[in-house]
Amino acid sequence: MTQTPFSLAGKRVFVAGHRGMVGRALVRRLADQDCEILTASREELDLRDQAGVDRFFADRRPQAVLMAAATVGGIYANDTRPADFLYDNLVMATNVLGAALRGGVEKLTFLGSSCIYPRLAPQPMREDALLTGPLEPTNEWYAIAKIAGVKLCQAFRRQHGADFISAMPTNLYGPFDNFDLESSHVLPALIAKAHRAKTDGASTLSVWGSGAPKREFMHVDDCADAILFLTRHYSAESHVNVGSGEEVSIRTLAQHVAQAVGLQAELTFDPSKPDGAPRKLMDSSLLRGMGWAPRIPLNEGLKATYSWYLTQIAP
Ligand code: GDP
Repeated sequence: MTQTPFSLAGKRVFVAGHRGMVGRALVRRLADQDCEILTASREELDLRDQAGVDRFFADRRPQAVLMAAATVGGIYANDTRPADFLYDNLVMATNVLGAALRGGVEKLTFLGSSCIYPRLAPQPMREDALLTGPLEPTNEWYAIAKIAGVKLCQAFRRQHGADFISAMPTNLYGPFDNFDLESSHVLPALIAKAHRAKTDGASTLSVWGSGAPKREFMHVDDCADAILFLTRHYSAESHVNVGSGEEVSIRTLAQHVAQAVGLQAELTFDPSKPDGAPRKLMDSSLLRGMGWAPRIPLNEGLKATYSWYLTQIAP
C-alpha cells in the first residue's frame, strides 16, 4: 500500500484494449471519474506495431495506462493457436510498457491471469507460487507472455524507478464476453449452449472434459473496481492476485448456468476435450488485506450476464 494514493483526477488515462471485456468494464468504471479516458481503435493502432505505439504515446501523452489489451481465449483456442497467444501478447506488452517508460507515464497497471501459476501450484495459489513449477500445457503460451509482462514491470521499477504494477485476475465473465463456442472460456460457452438447448427444446447440455476441474470466477465489474483500487493504492514489485474466493467445479457451474437460463437438462460430458488445470483458485489475501472485496456473487453475476446475453447476443 502506498501512503499517498495515486490520483487519477485530471489525468489522461489510456485504457489499452478498450473493446475487450475487461477494457470495456474499465471504461465504464472510469466514466464518472474526473479523468480523460484515452482509447485507440484497432484500425487506428495495432499494439503489435512498435512505431505506431510510440507515435500514439507521443501524440496523446497518457499519464496513466491500464494495460488490458491481450490476445485471449479459452482452453481450445490457447491449445490450437500457440503462436498468436505467445507472440501477440509478448509484443503488445513490450511495446506498451516500453512506450510508457519512454513517455514518462506516472502509473501503469499491467493485467495478467491466474494461468501464470504452475499447473500443480498449492491451492489457493499465492503470489510467490510464480515460477515454482511447470505450467499447464494448454495455456503455457499465454502464461509465458504474461509472466514476461509481470517481470518487465518489476524490471522497469527496479532499474528505472517506474511505478508499474501488475494484477492477476482470476477467470472473469460478464457483458461483452466472447460467446463463440470455439474460442470462448467455459462460462460464456455454457451460457450460449444452455440458451441454444432451451430454445431447441433439447434435454441435454454438453460439457467439455470430465466436469471435475474447479475454477474461480469473478464478475468483470468487480475486477475493474479492483484494478482501479490497485492503481490508486498499490505501488510495489509483487504482482497482486485479484480473485473472488468463489470456486466451483465445472459440473456445478453447468448446473448453475442451466438454472440461470431456465433449462431443465441432463449434463453430458465430452472426454475428447481437455480438462486443463485441475484447480486454479487464487489466494487473494494480499488484496483483501488492503481493504478491497468483491461485491457480485456468482449466481447474481450469472443472471445479469444471461440477461445481457439475451438482449445483446441471442437472435
Ligand atoms: P481454462 O480455465 O484455461 O482451462 O479455460 P476454459 O475456461 O476454456 O476451460 C475451463 C474448463 O471448463 C476446462 O476443464 C474445460 O474443458 C471446461 N469446459 C466445459 N465445457 C466447456 C466449453 O463449452 N467451453 C470451454 N471453453 N470449456 C469448457
